[in-house]
Amino acid sequence: MMEFTHCPCGQGQYSSCCEPLHLGKAKAETAEQLMRSRYSAFAKQQVDYIVATTAIGQQAQLDRAALLSWSIDNAWQQLEILNSVPRVDASHAMVEFKAYYSDGQARIHHEQSYFVKHQNAWYFIDPTLQTFPSMKHACLCGSEKKFKHCCATFIR
Ligand SMILES: [Zn+2]
Ligand SMILES: [Zn+2]
Repeated sequence: MMEFTHCPCGQGQYSSCCEPLHLGKAKAETAEQLMRSRYSAFAKQQVDYIVATTAIGQQAQLDRAALLSWSIDNAWQQLEILNSVPRVDASHAMVEFKAYYSDGQARIHHEQSYFVKHQNAWYFIDPTLQTFPSMKHACLCGSEKKFKHCCATFIR
């Protein structure tokens, strides 16, 4: 019998939930599924997946070592989806969630995250990075649009 391992995101068995996404065998069909799988990726220390599911133009700015220690140093306890808007506009979605974790003390990370669909795949738009394209330049998500007409709206 196969061992039952709960998926960190809370949706059942890891091997049929977020693991196929982490292994590159399946793709998130919705922004909410991507959000869940990114939470699980922190719990399972899948840093490559965290990087690969961040907006294409932002990936080079990510600090892999910092992501890995953030992933290892916390105990990931539970994910709660509070609100999910699959279409904020033609190519963007919003997921509001609480991530429960512990770094020795119980903590709750409450966030409204925005996601962009590019060539049929969903990506997280990281609002915390230092550098963004200038408004008139190509968007960070890989679309042909100018930043100001695309993802800029969703970064605050
Ligand atoms: Zn899952
Ligand atoms: Zn964009």
